[in-house]
Amino acid sequence: MRKLTILGATGSIGASTFKVIEQNPEQFSVVALAAGSNVEKMRQLCQKWQPKYAVMACDSAALQLKQQLSQLKLNTEVLSGVEAMCQVSSTDEVDTVMAAIVGAAGLLPTMAAVKAGKRVLLANKEALVMSGQLFIDAVKQHGAELMPVDSEHNAIFQCLPSEIQTNLGQCDLEAHGIQHILLTGSGGPFRYSDINELSTVTPEQAIAHPNWSMGPKISVDSATMMNKGLEYIEAKWLFNTAREQLKVLIHPQSVIHSMVQYKDGSVLAQMGEPDMATPIALTLSYPQRISAGVAPLDFTKVGELTFLEADYSRYPCLKLAIDACYEGQHATTALNAANEVAVNSFLNRELSFTDIAIVNEAVLSKVCAGSSQANCNDLESILELDRMARDLATAFISERKL
Ligand code: NAD
Ligand code: MG
Repeated sequence: MRKLTILGATGSIGASTFKVIEQNPEQFSVVALAAGSNVEKMRQLCQKWQPKYAVMACDSAALQLKQQLSQLKLNTEVLSGVEAMCQVSSTDEVDTVMAAIVGAAGLLPTMAAVKAGKRVLLANKEALVMSGQLFIDAVKQHGAELMPVDSEHNAIFQCLPSEIQTNLGQCDLEAHGIQHILLTGSGGPFRYSDINELSTVTPEQAIAHPNWSMGPKISVDSATMMNKGLEYIEAKWLFNTAREQLKVLIHPQSVIHSMVQYKDGSVLAQMGEPDMATPIALTLSYPQRISAGVAPLDFTKVGELTFLEADYSRYPCLKLAIDACYEGQHATTALNAANEVAVNSFLNRELSFTDIAIVNEAVLSKVCAGSSQANCNDLESILELDRMARDLATAFISERKL
C-alpha cells in the first residue's frame, strides 16, 4: 500500500488525485494533506479521507480548521506553515508525495520530499523551474524517485525507454537513439483571436481553457503560453535535453499529449482524453498500470488532428521563457517570480492581459542586466532572488496600473 502526502490537496490536481485513489482504495492510504487557505474544502477532505495530518498555510486558517474538526470529533492533527508542510513531506510515515501546490510556495515542501528520498509526483513545475540543477542533484543524491505529473512530460516519459524513465535528469537521449522531444500545447483560448484585441481580454475569458480544466494560475499561463515556456524549462531538466533536441508544437485538439522522435524515423506519441487522472494514475502505480476512471479515447469522435508552429508575436511569454532557459538559473527563477505576480495582478484586474509579458520582460532584462549573475547555488539564494524579482514586478505594475 502506498502511503501518501498530498500537497495542494484542495486544488485541481488534488481533486484528480483523489479521483484516482477512489478507483483503487485498497492500494493507497492518505496520511497527510496540505493546502493554502480553503478551510471549507479541507474540512470536507478531512471528513472523507481522515488523514493523520492536515496542514494549512497560515495560523488563522489552521485554527478555523482545528475548531471545525474538533466539533466533528475527527482525530486529524492540524498544523500550519511551510515547516509543517516540509515535515509531512519528509516523514517516515509516507513513501509518496504529490507535489501540487501552485507556484513558488511549493518549492520547499517539494524539496523536502526529494531530500527525504520519496517518490515525488511532480505537478508543481514552478519548483523545478526555480531550482533546476539543485533539484536534479538532490534527486540523485537522496535517491528520490521523480515522476512527472504534467501531462506533456508524463506523455514524453511514457514514450521513453525504461533506462531513461528511471534516470530522469541525468539521461543521455542521443545514446538511446532519440533525436527530438516534441512538446505539444493547445495554444490556449486565444490561438485564433485577433492579436490586436488581446489587450482587452478578461480573466474569465483567459481561464476558459478550450480542452483542460485547471486552476486559475496555470489557465492564464496556458493563454499566454508561459505555461509551455515553463514546461520547456521543466522538460530541459527532466530529460536533460540540448537546445536542438527540444521543440514546441501547437496541437489545438490536445489529443496527443507530446511525442518523442527517434533517429530511425519512428515517432512515439501518447494520447488520451484531456484528464489529469491518467498521468496521475501512472505516477502512483508505475511501473504497473491502474484504473484512472477516465473514458477510453474514442477515435471515431476525435476528428482531425492538426499541428502548427508557435508564433512568438502572439505568445511573447513563450519566447521569454525559452530565452531565459538558456540565459541561466537566475533568469528562469526571476521570470517565474515576475510571472506569478503579473498573473495575480491580471486576475485581480489590475493589469491587462498583454501587460503580463511586458512586466515579465522588464523584470527579466533588469535581472539579466546586472554585471554579475545572481548566485543560485542554494535554496536561500534562490528564494532571495525570487523575492527581489517579485518586488521589481510589483514596482513595474504600480507604474502601469490602469
Ligand atoms: P489550483 O489553484 O487548483 O490548486 C493549487 C493548490 O495549491 C491548492 O490546494 C492551494 O490551496 C494550494 N496552495 C496555494 N498556495 C499555497 C501555499 N502558500 N501553501 C500551501 N498550499 C498552497 O492549481 P492546480 O491547477 O491544481 O495546479 C497545481 C500545480 O500543478 C501547479 O504548479 C500547476 O502548474 C501544476 N499543474 C496543474 C495541471 C492541471 O491540470 N491543473 C496540469 C499540470 C501541472
Ligand atoms: Mg502541462
